[in-house]
Amino acid sequence: MSVLSELYAEIALCQQCELAKYRTKVVPGEGAEDAGILFIGEAPGWHEDQQGRPFVGPAGLYLDELLASINLKREQVYIANVIKCRPAKNRDPLPSEIHNCRKWLERQIELIHPKMIVTLGRYSMAMFFPNKSIGKIHGTAQKQGNIIYYAMYHPAAALHQQGLRQVIAADMLKIPVLLTQAENITEAKQQPQQLNMFEV
Ligand code: URA
Repeated sequence: MSVLSELYAEIALCQQCELAKYRTKVVPGEGAEDAGILFIGEAPGWHEDQQGRPFVGPAGLYLDELLASINLKREQVYIANVIKCRPAKNRDPLPSEIHNCRKWLERQIELIHPKMIVTLGRYSMAMFFPNKSIGKIHGTAQKQGNIIYYAMYHPAAALHQQGLRQVIAADMLKIPVLLTQAENITEAKQQPQQLNMFEV
């Protein structure tokens, strides 16, 4: 059993918040254990809760398209969420839920050791770019330690606001260059906390 599979087994037993009572399946995340890029969304939706896999609904299909635009398949990256269980009616995650679940994401980051973390939407952005607005920082990167952090709109945003489609597609296209030019990205001034993750 790989270390990540052991972690999934632990996550599946988590009863730390009310969401555990109502989930069909826990959605720990999936992808390559040695992925260079980790994408972090918000929370599982209905489809994800049914299948126990991240981004398998309409937003996921669009994420697959975006990945294909930079010649990547989802098996080559790692995809996770800020919280691992579906909030009822797809409501926004509560601060307490994000707080309870963050240890799982921290463990995933430690184990996968990605070169780049791409935040999808404002909840995952807030964990790495505190007090920033997605409208201002989407498509920009910061390097802290050995990791490049890159903020993007959530793919679902493009499904609701057609105008964002081009923006998201253009932001995605910047990823390969950022990865190869990692050394040119300015180090962020703030002192990183543990794993550069912040309380939301
Ligand atoms: N939206 C997310 O943020 N994550 C998923 O897994 C699916 C939709």
